Amino acid sequence: MHGESAGVARWRITVDGEKCALCEVCSRHCPSGALRVEQGGAVLRLVFRPGLCHGCVDREGCEIRCTEGALARARDESTEEPAAEIVLSQCELVRCARCGEPHAPARKLRAVARRRRGKDPAATARCPHCRRTALAIRFVEEKHGPGSHTQSRSAREILRRAGHWRGA
Ligand code: SF4
Ligand code: SF4
Repeated sequence: MHGESAGVARWRITVDGEKCALCEVCSRHCPSGALRVEQGGAVLRLVFRPGLCHGCVDREGCEIRCTEGALARARDESTEEPAAEIVLSQCELVRCARCGEPHAPARKLRAVARRRRGKDPAATARCPHCRRTALAIRFVEEKHGPGSHTQSRSAREILRRAGHWRGA
């Protein structure tokens, strides 16, 4: 039976790894869980599970939603059983310039920088937690004066309650 299992069509997803920004749009909209982005250490992978894919023939699927035109969907005409899991794309995570935690794939940051043309490239150098912390510190210092976030107990309390105080 070509590309079918028990009368059900099989689908193949391919991704151009050079174009894919690991933005997670396709995996977030995949209704079956066939596409998932998984983190292993400091590497992010876009993983496809052919057994779960139903092709999205009656709705907008991953191919239409891909932000970079990197993903293609086609009927799988092969007579071979596909692997249970296929890694479609992967990329190392860039570490946050402040806390050192892996926070975003380098390719996603490059795609964001392209879209932000001319805007501050350092804005994405920190993880979301550290960006929020920097904003909270600025807010506290504007209210209580320079250095107040480390000196004033009440300012530290404001940051701690907001979940931004790590004792930095
Ligand atoms: S075609 Fe639909 S079910 Fe299949 S991977 Fe894409 S979004 Fe998921
Ligand atoms: S295939 Fe497209 S939508 Fe999916 S992670 Fe890559 S760039 Fe984003």
